[in-house]
Amino acid sequence: MKKPVVDLHCDLLSYLTRPNTSIDDAEEIGCAIPWLKEGNVKLQIMAIFAPVEGKSHEFGLKQSEIFQNLNKEDNALYRFGKQHLETFSNNENIGMLAAIESGSAFCDENMTLKQGFDHLEKIIKIVGNVLYISFTHHAENRFGGGNYSTAGLKNDGKTLIDYLHNRNIAIDFSHTSDALAYDILNYISKENINVPIIASHSNYRSVFDHPRNLPDDIAKEIIHQKGLIGLNFVRAFVNPEKVEALDEHVVQGIELGGENAICYGADYFYTKDNPDKSRIPFYFKEHDNAGHYSPINEILEKDFGVDQTNKISSQNALDFIARIWK
Ligand SMILES: [Zn+2]
Repeated sequence: MKKPVVDLHCDLLSYLTRPNTSIDDAEEIGCAIPWLKEGNVKLQIMAIFAPVEGKSHEFGLKQSEIFQNLNKEDNALYRFGKQHLETFSNNENIGMLAAIESGSAFCDENMTLKQGFDHLEKIIKIVGNVLYISFTHHAENRFGGGNYSTAGLKNDGKTLIDYLHNRNIAIDFSHTSDALAYDILNYISKENINVPIIASHSNYRSVFDHPRNLPDDIAKEIIHQKGLIGLNFVRAFVNPEKVEALDEHVVQGIELGGENAICYGADYFYTKDNPDKSRIPFYFKEHDNAGHYSPINEILEKDFGVDQTNKISSQNALDFIARIWK
């Protein structure tokens, strides 16, 4: 029997901002509905993404409206809420929950922070619940440094942390610079901020050295604070030469004490117009769509046992969500 799967990160919403796209188009994106069904994905977190550019908040708002329409339309998706925590694995449909990938999705570089927070509230209202917020994407923005930058936490970033106190929305470390990650951790502890922390779609730098992968001390702190770390299937982050390295990332997560933190964050996005041709194929064929979750789970089960695999496949993410929504 296929295990239920919870996945912490995909880019279906930004893909759907393109003309003539469909959630059912399995040729175009690895998290299309036929793949999610085949992989027995029962809860898919949907990122609202925006790069650093003028009016980036409009792009974020557009994706929140797409999410809202997906919930209304007659399709296999429904908006996941507290009432689905117990029953979701028996539901024939796929739960979805929104998250924000970069503060630029609600606040561009030029507007007032007040306007930005108004946009954030609007997005939360439209999508119902936001599971996590990543302050940055690759680049630096007004909140802090992205994973290809060296900037740390800025004053607007501190205000965003204050805003998240007691909101039950996690801070996502998947696209922070190292400096931003350490600054956020210090600020949270110094100011006694009550906020869960996760890395929704990140692997481990000690297994494969890449700025998108987590240094051990940051991974350990996320584990210590009972957060989640989602395994990322993108070949460039797994180890471009070696499909088995996905297992090595699991080994490293367990080694750091993360048996209750490791989950999936596969990171399926639209790759066909990506300018960096050296990254093709973006995923190993064994990982290139959500339909592969069952064979991936079978491999994990051989290496790590049934209990650990159940935790990775859905239980850890589910326990985390139940805890922060309590
Ligand atoms: Zn990402």
